[in-house]
Amino acid sequence: MARAQIPLSLAPDRCDRCRRCVAACPNAALKVGPTYIYVDWQRCTGCLACAKMCTTGAIAPRGGTGAKAGGGGDAGARMGATSARGTGTAAKPARRAPAGAAGETGPLAWTLGEAWVVLAALLVAFVLKDVVMASTFVRQLDSDVAVFARVATLFAFYALQVGVLAALAWRRGASVIDAFRPRAVAVSWRGLAASVGLVAALLVGTRLVALVYGMTAQWVGWDPPAREIADLTEVFGPTVWGLLFSVALVVIVAPIVEEAVFRGVVQDAIASVSGHRVAIAVAAAIFALSHVTAWLFAPLFVLGLACGWLAHTRASLLPAIWLHAGYNLLPVLVAFYLVW
Ligand code: SF4
Ligand code: SF4
Repeated sequence: MARAQIPLSLAPDRCDRCRRCVAACPNAALKVGPTYIYVDWQRCTGCLACAKMCTTGAIAPRGGTGAKAGGGGDAGARMGATSARGTGTAAKPARRAPAGAAGETGPLAWTLGEAWVVLAALLVAFVLKDVVMASTFVRQLDSDVAVFARVATLFAFYALQVGVLAALAWRRGASVIDAFRPRAVAVSWRGLAASVGLVAALLVGTRLVALVYGMTAQWVGWDPPAREIADLTEVFGPTVWGLLFSVALVVIVAPIVEEAVFRGVVQDAIASVSGHRVAIAVAAAIFALSHVTAWLFAPLFVLGLACGWLAHTRASLLPAIWLHAGYNLLPVLVAFYLVW
């Protein structure tokens, strides 16, 4: 991308994080974090609505009034659609040098290579988890001790993925929080209400799809395999501790890590070389495949599509995490309600 085509000058050290620019952007192309201003040039049309809202000079047109931000170049130059594809700029104040940051690709713009690394780490973690869970050592443990062994193994499974994400972010001079792509958004009450409504509607929709799918599959004689029937109360024990472990792992940790991996890294990396629709669909398919169950592929794919669409349109991972957590909460509650 030719630098002269970039329409904005970014000076994050001038930013007071009022987020008016984020609210003004019609394309959800802008993110403002504690230490950075991020522009996704694939989405940015160069309308300069953000620069008009910024009174501190943290964002300004390149050249022209951008002099207050120290910018130069073509005033108001619009991005060429092809040259903008797949890149972003994250301007950061003086911190540590972003090792490995290439050209104008900022710490939060994941590459396909990094997505492959994250998926490879997921595969390794998955194999290690299954080996430990199925080991004679764990199966011969006393039932209470075995529950703790399974919980520790699952926490390690997710911790390994978080560690890889953090390491990749660190290579770019970013933090583990950046690795999770919080994607700061304008938190207007209207926007928040819209996100809550969308999450609620999609939660009902995805759960209805799963219900209809399950009934249809069993109606045609395709019963779930034994592994899918295995109750959470069997894995974590039918006690209060079992419920707490289930909530911690299935409702909290899994949605956060899986959304960071599949929507935060994989979907965004694919979007850098294709359209967002393709990226959402491919990431949803990989997400469903990662659960290694043909029987659940369809409902998980639908959930992945919904989470991907939310992550893209709300410019944040949080609504997707909430949807994913709500989706996982129902089977946890049902499992323990039936036992208790
Ligand atoms: S409008 Fe300017 S000061 Fe406010 S968050 Fe955006 S860049 Fe920062
Ligand atoms: S110039 Fe780009 S980042 Fe700024 S408001 Fe317009 S589309 Fe959004």
